Amino acid sequence: MELEQKLTKVYEIEHSLQTLMTLCGQQDGIPDLNETPFRVIKAFLEYTVGYRENPTEHLEKTFDISQNDPIIVKDIEFYSMCEHHFAPFFGVAHVSYIPDKKVTGLSKIARVVEGYARRFQVQERLTNQIADAVQSVLKPKGVIVAIEAKHLCVSSRGVKKEEAKTFTVVSHGVYSDNPQLRSEFMMAIK
Ligand SMILES: [Zn+2]
Repeated sequence: MELEQKLTKVYEIEHSLQTLMTLCGQQDGIPDLNETPFRVIKAFLEYTVGYRENPTEHLEKTFDISQNDPIIVKDIEFYSMCEHHFAPFFGVAHVSYIPDKKVTGLSKIARVVEGYARRFQVQERLTNQIADAVQSVLKPKGVIVAIEAKHLCVSSRGVKKEEAKTFTVVSHGVYSDNPQLRSEFMMAIK
């Protein structure tokens, strides 16, 4: 998109956000809020920075190893945005894989989580995408991803369930068909 077209879009969105604020009952004339529509646009570009990268690329630099014990990266904090309400959901992701001769740097797993979290998302898809990325690039013997998250669209609207958390799990390979490996993983992330 040409710069001029982009600017026209920004003006249109700013105008729409003003209209939204008015619809919500916001009275005009508070100078502090003049900049809000533009700040919202900038914030949305940050929330969705993951669309402008390919998270699987983080995994492409690998190291050869002979060991094949599970590698667990737990408590990876993330912030994402529910695609149904544009409300934040956030929490932690835990990832484990059993390598088949190839491993990646530990921080790279966190980069993959970040790359998929920074999009309009649903928790189920986020969990799947992380598992699929590890599966497709590292081709491990098994991978499992668990996500615990709090959704502000659930806790702040309608029935107020402030403490409710959503837990999702996706696995491939040996983690799908070996209950003992799964329970070792579940113990490790407790
Ligand atoms: Zn929602």
